[in-house]
Amino acid sequence: MTSDNRLFPADWQQAPRFQGMFSFMRLPISRDLSKADVAIVGAPFDLGVMHRPGARFGPRQIRIASAQIRQYPATAADLWGPFQTLRVLDYGDVDIVAAYIDENLERIRALLAPVYAAGVTPIVLGGDHTITLPALRAAAATHGPLSLLHFDAHPDYWPPPSPDRPYHHGTVYRAAEQEGLIDLQRSVQVGIRGTISMAIVEECRAAGFHLITADEFAAQGIAATLEQIRGRVRGPIYLSLDIDSADPAFAPGTGTPEVAGLTSRELVHLVRGLRGLPIAGFDVVEVAPPYDHAEITALLAANLVYEFLEICAARPAS
Ligand code: MN
Ligand code: MN
Repeated sequence: MTSDNRLFPADWQQAPRFQGMFSFMRLPISRDLSKADVAIVGAPFDLGVMHRPGARFGPRQIRIASAQIRQYPATAADLWGPFQTLRVLDYGDVDIVAAYIDENLERIRALLAPVYAAGVTPIVLGGDHTITLPALRAAAATHGPLSLLHFDAHPDYWPPPSPDRPYHHGTVYRAAEQEGLIDLQRSVQVGIRGTISMAIVEECRAAGFHLITADEFAAQGIAATLEQIRGRVRGPIYLSLDIDSADPAFAPGTGTPEVAGLTSRELVHLVRGLRGLPIAGFDVVEVAPPYDHAEITALLAANLVYEFLEICAARPAS
């Protein structure tokens, strides 16, 4: 292993973790895709929420919280961490134009398309869940229809309020299915709960999703859930992680919290359990710092990104 091309976070013993520009984990900031295997991209967009805004501040706060993470993993089996083999850049944020949903969705797609085309895996920091739609448009342009692996309290498969207003953060997968971006027959949703109609749950299942409610997850546990995921997904996978899949005790800083959710430990272990799967893209969405306390939510999101970097580092070379 040569050190020539490797990229590392700033050393916490050489430069203290409160200083610097707050890129993700204080990694190099660059848009040179030839130097990267993974690009961290911020999408500070929250015009798609139906209730409480604030996720536009998510990317910045996740980056700040990520300074807490050291570059070595918690698992004894992998002492050296993802950066020994994986080149990770902070790509910066999408330039959002205030007040226009459609134009911003196009800006997000346009920024991500060349990342996918270059064979670099983007990690998108939301932003509300609407940002997953243009992320899937960019992913599918390179990979074709994807398996969706979706952690969320909400199915985000609702029909839009009217055909001429198709987009908000609860219609994302309805639109993605209609555009042929995802294949529901090889897709899984985990963590669904709260005061939503059972009719939408049944509609998701009838449409093809393998849907695991939070109650079903609590009853069957992590190992059985991972087994069901592995039995279901095929081909390139897009992993979309709505932070409200976590219980508000572990993720209070989000727009639409739902009680009786997953613990942070369960989420970390679920993501860790995905190693070896061909995941083509990842996002973590709905971190809304105005409702956060003690950086609990942003810290969880930053750690889930780190766990995803471990998945990327463990991927077989293509
Ligand atoms: Mn969502
Ligand atoms: Mn949600």
